[in-house]
Amino acid sequence: MSKRAFIKSYGCQMNVYDATRMADELARQGYEMADAAEGADLILLNTCHIREKAAEKVYSELGRLKGERALIGVAGCVAQAEGEEIIRRQPRVDFVVGPQAYHLLPELIAKAQRGEAPVETDLAEDKFAHLAAPQKRAITARGVTAFLTVQEGCDKFCAFCVVPYTRGGEVSRPVAAIFAEAERLVDAGVREITLLGQNVNAYRGPDGMGGTASLAALVERLAALPGLARLRFTTSHPNDMSADLIAAHRDEPKLMPYLHLPVQAGSDKVLKAMNRKHTAGQYRALIESIRAARPDIALSGDFIVGFPGESDADFEATMALTRDVGYASAYSFKYSPRPGTPAAGREDQVPEPVKAERLQRLQALLTEQQRAFNAGCVGRTLPVLIEKPGKKPGQWVGRSPYLQPVHIPAEAGQVGEIVEVAISSAQGNSLFGAPAGMRRDAA
Ligand code: SF4
Repeated sequence: MSKRAFIKSYGCQMNVYDATRMADELARQGYEMADAAEGADLILLNTCHIREKAAEKVYSELGRLKGERALIGVAGCVAQAEGEEIIRRQPRVDFVVGPQAYHLLPELIAKAQRGEAPVETDLAEDKFAHLAAPQKRAITARGVTAFLTVQEGCDKFCAFCVVPYTRGGEVSRPVAAIFAEAERLVDAGVREITLLGQNVNAYRGPDGMGGTASLAALVERLAALPGLARLRFTTSHPNDMSADLIAAHRDEPKLMPYLHLPVQAGSDKVLKAMNRKHTAGQYRALIESIRAARPDIALSGDFIVGFPGESDADFEATMALTRDVGYASAYSFKYSPRPGTPAAGREDQVPEPVKAERLQRLQALLTEQQRAFNAGCVGRTLPVLIEKPGKKPGQWVGRSPYLQPVHIPAEAGQVGEIVEVAISSAQGNSLFGAPAGMRRDAA
């Protein structure tokens, strides 16, 4: 009887991608994926360390699971940051594995079955060179859109961020390896690929000809892949938005007009304290040049309110920048001190009620902007990639070029097809419509 493994992922798209690669590696060891922890032979918590709440969630989940008979492993960024401490705090844990060591899963599981409680958090090795390749059946089962990690780690050391400590320095995968993985994805039915990196636009991968390729060059290379309809990338840093990448948004039709470009704050004083290495003015100028290249581009951002030392005037600068840019979507959080990061030890922490009030105001503005962007799509015809069945019978959900979910009637086409949709309404984050020329929509 085949063994069953359950992987629960927290946090970012890269953790989602890593979970698929761990599943591929476990499949090679004879594991089938389970939908729930109960009754599984192996439980893997793929953790996120970005905010306090995220890390604490892991320990409460471990407390809930400790009665299970399965082997329990902790992976991801909390595993990397806390290592042995996890087993000390929760002895029920059988092994701990950091993000760069997933290719060692078979060995770690064998050691854990012998009761050795291994902890592997080495950052050195290139896991991709050893990880099992995804099987066609597995890829097809995951859908017509896929993530593909091209770069990992970060050299920026923003004062609030744990990523450089949990994922290590920037490492870019070779173009040939990325191309081969993309080919496999497309061969299994994937139509849209999102290139991932903690600092994806700092990508500088070996091009196989003795040089290195930028992200723009990689996009151009992948866009030539027959059968691949759409490309996206995330997450970018303003300082690595090179001229060739902006030109790619203008010239490459397969590169979707959607850009996630975190700014975090609008005050130069706070940006300096965060070690973001750019000013609000430079960010505004960058947005202008991106919009000049691709006027219909949808912008998304990340924001932190209540960074230590942030005054009312600093926060108003964030609100002013947000108004000036106008975001189609955004993620915003209260500052959360992370162990080991420079800002965590600052005296001038902002009181929680002040953070909460600022977050509430910023999110109200961002929601207003998102609604306005979606309302601006009503009456337009947009190409929609049909992804999966909707909540209602007879309904498909697809993605617009601006990453909006679009609900359409099922007779519009098949999963994997891109259909021209006349957008008739917008509700919350979603759009509704029907293929141009068809009478009824899916509202
Ligand atoms: S650029 Fe992003 S991943 Fe890198 S340290 Fe800053 S916030 Fe973290």
